Amino acid sequence: MRLSLPYEGQIYRPPSEADAFILQATVGCSHNLCVYCDMYRSKSFRVRKLDETLAMLRKAGKILGSQVEKVFVADGDALVMDLDHWVPILETAHEVFPRLRRVSCYAMASNVLEKTDEELQTLRDKGLSLLYIGPESGDPETLRRIVKGGTYEEHVEAAQRAHAVGMEISVIALLGAGGIARSTEHAEATARLVTDMDPEYFAALTLTVVPGTPMERMEAKGKFELPDILALLGELRTIVAEARPTNALFRTNHASNYLPIGGRLPRDRDSILEVLDAALSGEIPLRPEWSRGL
Ligand code: SF4
Repeated sequence: MRLSLPYEGQIYRPPSEADAFILQATVGCSHNLCVYCDMYRSKSFRVRKLDETLAMLRKAGKILGSQVEKVFVADGDALVMDLDHWVPILETAHEVFPRLRRVSCYAMASNVLEKTDEELQTLRDKGLSLLYIGPESGDPETLRRIVKGGTYEEHVEAAQRAHAVGMEISVIALLGAGGIARSTEHAEATARLVTDMDPEYFAALTLTVVPGTPMERMEAKGKFELPDILALLGELRTIVAEARPTNALFRTNHASNYLPIGGRLPRDRDSILEVLDAALSGEIPLRPEWSRGL
């Protein structure tokens, strides 16, 4: 039997959730202001009705049942939902997918900070075990310019509070987010933020200026200039060289990147830097522009 669910609009998920069942419990992003992001611009944010979401889960359970080991709750900052939605969603997910071992979602720092420690603990106990948090940059000026909606300190606090209840976090940085003007500050401060958030997973994406976004207008007015490819790789080199997470699985496998690499930080730092240096000196071919994606 074919599974047909009422997904609305384009669905986005991290590359590492390619094998997850996507549950669109919210539509859009409650923030929807980051100047580079066009993922949910056409959607006005709403939390789906709970009975609709649970019906999607039950329907998926009947067809996919024991095949599903991971659930990714969409869209852009699903952690914003209150517990009166989260708890039945997590309980039902475990009921209908008996082999479920991981539930994850995108989260803004504010989504974490708006919840009490008890609420976060309940979410963890019910099975929400991984948050994808994308500060994009650790540079306060860059965070302000891209309208990220969270400060350096708030991201660190969110990471600490998630860790305190036993959740894992995946931190996402955005190469190029500071433009040429803040490239150095962006890279150095992002390395510090990765150290301070101390994630289990760390991914770097590369900024593309998307038509129709505020960033495109900033670029047209000369208020933002994207660093060239070598400068973007240079940012990545700085971040890898300077970040000091305890033990993070590092990946640049997102389609936006020019150089897909990975390893564990700090364990594989030297070998990752060797690959980056080889790419910077032209010894390793980069992903061609036409094959990059958002
Ligand atoms: S929080 Fe995420 S989904 Fe929302 S506007 Fe920013 S980048 Fe886009």
